[in-house]
Amino acid sequence: MRTDNELRHDWTKEELMEIYNRPLLQLVYDAASVHRAWQRPDEVQISTLLSVKTGGCPEDCSYCGQAARYHTDIKVQALLPTETVLAHAQKAKDSGSSRFCMAAAWREVRDNRDFDRIIDMVKGVNDLGLEVCCTLGMLTADQAQRLQEAGLYAYNHNLDTSEEFYDEIISTRKFDNRIETIKNVRKAGITVCSGGIIGLGERIEDRISMLRTLSNMEKHPESVPINALARVAGTPLENLPKLDVWDMVRTIATARIVMPASMVRLSAGRIEMTETEQAWCFMAGANSIFTGERETLLVTPNPGVSEDMQMLTNLGLKPMKVEREVMSCSNS
Ligand code: SF4
Repeated sequence: MRTDNELRHDWTKEELMEIYNRPLLQLVYDAASVHRAWQRPDEVQISTLLSVKTGGCPEDCSYCGQAARYHTDIKVQALLPTETVLAHAQKAKDSGSSRFCMAAAWREVRDNRDFDRIIDMVKGVNDLGLEVCCTLGMLTADQAQRLQEAGLYAYNHNLDTSEEFYDEIISTRKFDNRIETIKNVRKAGITVCSGGIIGLGERIEDRISMLRTLSNMEKHPESVPINALARVAGTPLENLPKLDVWDMVRTIATARIVMPASMVRLSAGRIEMTETEQAWCFMAGANSIFTGERETLLVTPNPGVSEDMQMLTNLGLKPMKVEREVMSCSNS
């Protein structure tokens, strides 16, 4: 296995563009070679994502059905009871997941009773022996520290898109706010899950710019989700064309080559992909997926667990096991 000392953090836009634009089969071959040198190519991390608080978000992310200002079918749901969340986590573990992610549609975390309940959920999921991840919006350094002490393993905070294209997609926060939260997460010693969405109407240069920001971080995010836009009716982006699968393959392959030690997650948008198309993504270096017992990914459709397990079997892949010790909780 290779060592982190070999990782680069000085990629130029020109280098990334050259990689992204390689002849497709050459690009996939190169990414698959990097994948084989750095990762176990027959293993896929299975993560389960549960929306613990749904809808009613004050932000205006133009791709998101949970923004209160758009007229979508999504029903607002208050923070779930801790016991309900832990029952879902146990079920996810029993179905082969090694990571359990809890998502709340908040702009930012507030220091209130809901955050205390999230802390209890983090402790409970950690005690089940799962890697526990949260995505809760913007975080201060103190809040990140509290989550770390509760046993949080990873925090998801996507860049969404490039710095240059950011204002076209979201006006209620700035790209720099994303970077600030990621820094707070790092400082607290929590691993970082950060990627973005493609198919938002961005240029190839924006995909390159986003990947450059991620790959030039002092430490690469441990997980890099690559999402295809899920076109939610009622959002400003509902009528954009379906993303071409080769754009997904190119983006995943480029991410794999420049961040070889990271888990590259084939994330939202799988429901619109055939098994063959997903196989191309795995070949290009994706080694992580989200699955969910409710056959949704937050509020958009996603393949179900049994369908995913069958796909892995068909492709000769197997779920990755959690290899770490359960994090000890300093408060208990
Ligand atoms: S993506 Fe997150 S922050 Fe943006 S509107 Fe949706 S729930 Fe809110």
